[in-house]
Amino acid sequence: MKRSRRTKIVATLGPASDTPEMISRLFHAGADVFRLNMSHLPRERLPEKIEVIRAIEREARRPIAILVDLQGPKLRVGAFAEGSAMLENGASFTLDSDQAPGDVNRVFLPHPEILSALEPGHSVIIDDGKLRLTVTEVGGGRAVTRVEVGGRISNRKGVSLPHTVIPMPAMTDKDRSDLEAGLNAGADWIAVSFVQRPEDVAEVKKVCAGRALVMAKIEKPQALTRLDEIMEVSDGLMVARGDLGVEMPLEQVPGVQKRITRAARRLGKPVVVATQMLESMITAPVPTRAEVSDVATAVYEGADAVMLSAESASGAFPVEAISTMSRIAEQVEKDALYWTILTAQRSDPEATAADAIAAAAHQMVDALGLNAIMAWTHSGSTALRLARSRPNASVIALTPKRETARRLAMAWGTHPIVTNDASDVDDMAFRAAKFAVRERFAEIGDRVIVVAGVPFGTPGATNLVRIAFITREHAAKA
Ligand code: PGA
Ligand code: MN
Repeated sequence: MKRSRRTKIVATLGPASDTPEMISRLFHAGADVFRLNMSHLPRERLPEKIEVIRAIEREARRPIAILVDLQGPKLRVGAFAEGSAMLENGASFTLDSDQAPGDVNRVFLPHPEILSALEPGHSVIIDDGKLRLTVTEVGGGRAVTRVEVGGRISNRKGVSLPHTVIPMPAMTDKDRSDLEAGLNAGADWIAVSFVQRPEDVAEVKKVCAGRALVMAKIEKPQALTRLDEIMEVSDGLMVARGDLGVEMPLEQVPGVQKRITRAARRLGKPVVVATQMLESMITAPVPTRAEVSDVATAVYEGADAVMLSAESASGAFPVEAISTMSRIAEQVEKDALYWTILTAQRSDPEATAADAIAAAAHQMVDALGLNAIMAWTHSGSTALRLARSRPNASVIALTPKRETARRLAMAWGTHPIVTNDASDVDDMAFRAAKFAVRERFAEIGDRVIVVAGVPFGTPGATNLVRIAFITREHAAKA
């Protein structure tokens, strides 16, 4: 099964996409990666969710990446008796330590350390800036606030405190348990929320110990001051615009998005642009023109993936949101300007054999006008280095490691296939050509580029690039 775009789509699962049928529809509409958001998904449901995705993967015979997103030290209000409450401007609203369901007057704030850190005059921002409260009175395990900007507040909405300094560990106890559960259930990527320091990512990487790749969510201004170091230790990046836009002036977010996207591309690490991409599709079957433009901008920047949150998790049009996103990406990628922009932003190869080979392969597809680079890879790094140069050809990653194939589902332009390692140079070229036909990247008479490391089975030894001619025998075996 082949997609007709290079940019990947990450779809967050939730109540609107809870059944196997719905998840399958989202996959067929274009989702390459499913995000399981531990802020909302009960831990005990994780293995079952992952099994549903793996069943779809087996049936479609296309590797799917599963991103388990750790909540991090995100503050949220508790639940409401009626699911939500409407707060009027000027009203009084209390945050307290009482677990009872909330109403229009009060709600549980399940973070005692915050109730004691709040002071009169501090702002409390709810739901990514939609509601604003000001603390008027504190004490006795509660904070009374005045509603400055009212609106509907619903179960477990996020709370941001721009004025309050809270001592919070990088990984909460919940995150540690969720991480362990995610790794045991077979997550491919782990997302770390509210990263502030490179150590926050390093800590998660240490626990993962190679079992999953680690993506740093950039959603705090503190992370931007140490962006280079954070990017160095991370396997991938997410421009988490939801919280970023609350924690810093909104007008700075687009520039930050460009900065992170370019830096990630330079490093050859997958970068995801996230949040509110098609926000209006939570309630409408068509997006706004501005949203279409936003998705297109991320694609033009060469982002590896664009993400849907509530649109696919709790909206009324999850399938439509994915197919809309898919169509936007496909259209941008057909634009000659897209390739001009990617080429202009291309980074030089680093002084490694893998990058020299990637540059050569890129030049060969350009010179010969080819469609596919067939890359034999163990860890996936050969495929990522090829994708880094953003060639105008698909990167078909042939790997004996299922986990490598799944991880690569996150990366720009890569089409992963699980197959046995090549036994010799002839087998390497023959099977590469055969898969190129089977997966419809080439036909009899076409040529494809094959990249590999010889001797086979030695990871990290990319040293060979060759041109394979597709013959009748390849097609017969395909
Ligand atoms: P979240 O992260 O959806 O887990 O909050 C993304 C964001 O903040 O943009
Ligand atoms: Mn966030």
